[in-house]
Amino acid sequence: MTAGAVFFVCVFVEILQNYGTICQDFGYDGTEGPNYWGAKYAQCVGKHQSPIDIEVTKAITKHFPPLVFSHFDEPIQKAFLINNGHTVQMKINSDPKPTIKGGPLSGEFEFAQLHYHWGQNDTVGSESQFDHHTYPGEMHIVFFDKRYKDFTEAGNKPSGLTVLAFIIIIDEHDNLGYDNFEDGLKDVIDESANRTFNNLDSLSDLTRPEGERSFYYTYEGSLTTPPCSEVVTWIEFTNPLPMSREQINAFRKLFSKNGPLTHNYRPIQPLNDRIVYFNGADSKLPMSHLTTVLIIVACVYNIF
Ligand SMILES: [Zn+2]
Repeated sequence: MTAGAVFFVCVFVEILQNYGTICQDFGYDGTEGPNYWGAKYAQCVGKHQSPIDIEVTKAITKHFPPLVFSHFDEPIQKAFLINNGHTVQMKINSDPKPTIKGGPLSGEFEFAQLHYHWGQNDTVGSESQFDHHTYPGEMHIVFFDKRYKDFTEAGNKPSGLTVLAFIIIIDEHDNLGYDNFEDGLKDVIDESANRTFNNLDSLSDLTRPEGERSFYYTYEGSLTTPPCSEVVTWIEFTNPLPMSREQINAFRKLFSKNGPLTHNYRPIQPLNDRIVYFNGADSKLPMSHLTTVLIIVACVYNIF
């Protein structure tokens, strides 16, 4: 496919579905897989790509200003859920949109969309790794710098986007914040299937309460899907998002045009000359809160 044709597909999908530029000609297997993305999307072989393996002991502790979350605790009045063939993505079609500022960010960023990554089984699925460990899934909430018109424009600007990331771990109980969302997943099994919600649970319900969103790792990286734009300030929280096995399984029941969408995580990319910062306690713990929690959970549920 020529570059012009690729551009057409991306833009056409954007106009049709109104949820930000996506590109339809990539996948996670064979010649559509991550090793081939660079042939069509030059930035995918850049030097500042995501995801990465965060080596906890090498992260530099830094005291950033507090993150300021707005409209995270309010139910989402109108939500739009779609299976885009790569993941399930949620947009908000009501105002005001949630925003975030502070921390490593300069300026205020507005919610664009959220989506998930998962794997064939409970030992894989997260894109980020922590000390070489992978986890059953990962949630990404994408925001764009409000100095720009929208996600598409900000996606071409340095540091134009930020992604809040939560590792997903298995819990004995259902995550009640996901009751409605999981119900919606049943309506978007096939690629391009979509549905709307009135009064979906708040972003805090879908993630962690605000008091549990102060410890995080941050670094400069990229989108983890084509066009892999290197414009993303990553904020990766140490407190994971718990879900039951059944809830994680519901993601694996979605389909892409090639069949069951059993996995959609990109392999880790080289850190190269980047620094990962840790925003947290004065004296860095020998093991991160995340790692501690995850090892306990893994032992309890026999993941390893
Ligand atoms: Zn993602």
